[in-house]
Amino acid sequence: MPDETTMPTTTTGAPGGRAVSTPLLGGESEPTLFEFSHPGRRAWSFRTTGIPEVPVEDLVPAIHRRTAPVDIAEVSERDLVAHFTRLSHRQFSVDLGAYPLGSCTMKYNPKVCDTVAGLPGLAGVHPAAPASMTQGWLALLVELEETLCEVTGMAAATLQPAAGAAGELTGLLLMRAWHEAQGSVRHKVIIPDSAHGTNPASVTLGGYEVVTVPSDDRGCVDMDALRSVLDDDVAGIMLTNPNTLGLFEEDIAEIAAAVHEVGGLLYYDGANLNAILGVVRPGDMGFDIIHMNLHKTFATPHGGGGPGAGPVAVSERLVPFLPGPRPVRTGVDDVGAEFTWATPERSIGRVHTWHGNTLVLARALAYILVNGGDGLKRIAQVAVLNANWIRRRLHDAYDVPFDRPCMHEVVLSAKSLKAEYGVRALDIAKRLLEEGFHSPTVYFPLIVDEALMIEPTETESPQTLEALARALESIAAEAGELGAEAMAAHPLVTPVRRVDEARAARTLIPTFDART
Ligand SMILES: *Cc1c(COP(=O)(O)O)cnc(C)c1O
Repeated sequence: MPDETTMPTTTTGAPGGRAVSTPLLGGESEPTLFEFSHPGRRAWSFRTTGIPEVPVEDLVPAIHRRTAPVDIAEVSERDLVAHFTRLSHRQFSVDLGAYPLGSCTMKYNPKVCDTVAGLPGLAGVHPAAPASMTQGWLALLVELEETLCEVTGMAAATLQPAAGAAGELTGLLLMRAWHEAQGSVRHKVIIPDSAHGTNPASVTLGGYEVVTVPSDDRGCVDMDALRSVLDDDVAGIMLTNPNTLGLFEEDIAEIAAAVHEVGGLLYYDGANLNAILGVVRPGDMGFDIIHMNLHKTFATPHGGGGPGAGPVAVSERLVPFLPGPRPVRTGVDDVGAEFTWATPERSIGRVHTWHGNTLVLARALAYILVNGGDGLKRIAQVAVLNANWIRRRLHDAYDVPFDRPCMHEVVLSAKSLKAEYGVRALDIAKRLLEEGFHSPTVYFPLIVDEALMIEPTETESPQTLEALARALESIAAEAGELGAEAMAAHPLVTPVRRVDEARAARTLIPTFDART
C-alpha cells in the first residue's frame, strides 16, 4: 500500500459513489500461484471417467515422453479460482464501470450474446463439418450477412476477416482485383490525416502508396486538397464517416462523386458503426467497400487481443471478387438442405483458414436480434446524444477543438492546461483511473494537440455521465491548484502506476517492479 501521506487528496470526493468501491484501489502485490503449491494437490475432482486406463508407455513412445515431472504449481481448485479472480479484479474492466475510450469503442456487451455463443450446438461444431450437417450454422451466417448488408446498404459481404485490420487488407485486395479486372493498374490510395493508424498500414500492405490529404479547419476532408491529388492513378480513398474526430463529413456526396469520376473506389472504415446504425448507410453515401468491427459495435468485447471479426461488405460490382467459400442459399434440395458453401467466380481467395471467428459472428447476430431495427437506430441516437452532452458539459473545463455537433464521440484537448500549468492529457487520463473510470483515448487523433477522445457510448446512464463529467471537471480544477509535478505522480493507488511506455512496447517481458 502507498504510504498514507502519498494518498491523493480527494478533492473530487466520490462522484456517483463509484470511486471508493473500485477494486483497482489499494491491495498488496499478488503472490504467484507457486506460492500456494503443495505436492500432490490437484484442482480437479473426477473420481472416474469410465474410460479404461491405458499406461502412458503404451500410448507414447519413449522418445516423446518426459523424463522429469513438469514444473507447474500444484494447487486446489479453490486456490486456483481465488488466485485468478483476485488478479482479474486488479484490472479495470468493462463490467466494472464506464469505459469512455474513444475510437476503439468498448461498449455494452449483453451477457445474452455470450450465452448464445456458448450454446453447444454452435460452439461444439468442427469447422470442417459438411454443409449437410451444419445447416443451422449456415443459416445463421447467411442471416448475419444479409442483416449487415441491410445496415450498411451493400450487396454482399464476406464474414471471414478476423479483425478490423484484416478487413481493411481484404478490402484493398478487392479494390486491386476490381481495377485489374478493368485492365487498369493504379498505385495510390488517398487517406485523410485524421485516419486510424491501421488505414495507412493496410494500404502499404496491400501494395499501394499512401497519399495523405489534410483536414480543413472544420475537421473535415479539405476538398481543394482532395481535388489536387485525384487522377487516374488513384485506386480509391479510405474514409470513415463520422471521421475519427467524431465529425460527420458533410461533403461526402461531393467526395464520392469526385473519386468515382477518376475511376476510384470509396472504402469506408466502419470499425465504429454505432453513430449511424439505422440512420444513414455507407452504401447510400456512395461507398463501395466497408469493413465492420463486430468486436466494437456488435457485442464482442474489444481489447486484450481477443478474437474479433471484421466482415467486409461490398457494392454489387465487387461481389464476384469476394473471398470464398461463402455461405449461400440454394433453395431446398432433396434432403432438405437449404444452404451450402460457394466460392465466387473471380474470388481473391481465402482470408481466413476457416470461415472466420464464427462465435463472434454468432454474438453479433444475437445482438442485432436482441435490439431489433428500432433498437439499432436508438443505439445511434443515444450514442450521439451522450457524446454531445459531454461536449457541452465539459467545454469550459477543457478545450474543444471542433466545438460543433459531433457524432458518437468527442475530442477534447488539454492544450490550455498544458500551456498554463504543464499538465498533460496523459496526467488527466491517469488521474481519472482513481475516480473509478477507464481513461479516454489520448493523443489520438494525431492532428489534435493533447487530445482526450471520449466516447461515452449509448449504454451509460445520465447519472454515470454526470459522474464522469464531474470527475473530469474536478481533475481540471485540481490541475490548476496542484500543478504539473503533483499531477504527474498519479495514479497513486492502482496496482500498476506509471509504466515506461517505450520500454513496455519494446521489452515484452517486464523486469521492473510493477509497484514503483
Ligand atoms: C479499431 C479500429 C480499426 C482496427 O480494428 P482492429 O480490429 O483493431 O484491427 C480500424 N479503424 C478504426 C477507426 C478503428 O477504430
